[in-house]
Amino acid sequence: MTLNKYRQKRNFHLTSEPADTTKKKSSHHTLHFVVQKHAASHLHYDFRLEMNGVLKSWAVPKGPSLDPTIKRLAVQVEDHPLEYGEFEGIIPPGQYGQGTVMLWDEGNWIAEKTSHSTKGALTFTLKGKKLKGLWKLIQMKSNPKNWLLIKIHDQYARSANEYEITQELTSVKSGQTLEEITIFHQQQNK
Ligand code: MN
Repeated sequence: MTLNKYRQKRNFHLTSEPADTTKKKSSHHTLHFVVQKHAASHLHYDFRLEMNGVLKSWAVPKGPSLDPTIKRLAVQVEDHPLEYGEFEGIIPPGQYGQGTVMLWDEGNWIAEKTSHSTKGALTFTLKGKKLKGLWKLIQMKSNPKNWLLIKIHDQYARSANEYEITQELTSVKSGQTLEEITIFHQQQNK
């Protein structure tokens, strides 16, 4: 029932986003994560972790930072079907989230057990093409929809003064930039 909200928000006759979940979770496969760069009314990065057969999802307005001193707001949004992790293209005008979606990063993730594991805090390792190493998500008490996405110090951490991962502008699926994806899919739909 967790995908009801996702389905209610979309007209699948009009958008090419996936409607159903035919992928089944299995006990032995590794868990997938994706980050989709989404040029909606406000550009943001959708951070999605596979959990219990769906993609738990957060919209990160500024995108992830590799700098452990930087906390990035991550607003939890509706669960998405696992198929959504392959989606790249255009959400048409008038549809929820209209704009271009890029598959900006993908890979596997592993939950890490910490000595002080608590509800509302998740420590995990990302094995993506762009995002790697240890990260945490911390739920804010003031508003449970708001979380903070933070890099944990490790070999993959970088100071924001020298490098920001959001400088990486191309898709891990097509190698295209947002502009190129937009043009490519507009031509496909003609
Ligand atoms: Mn989005």
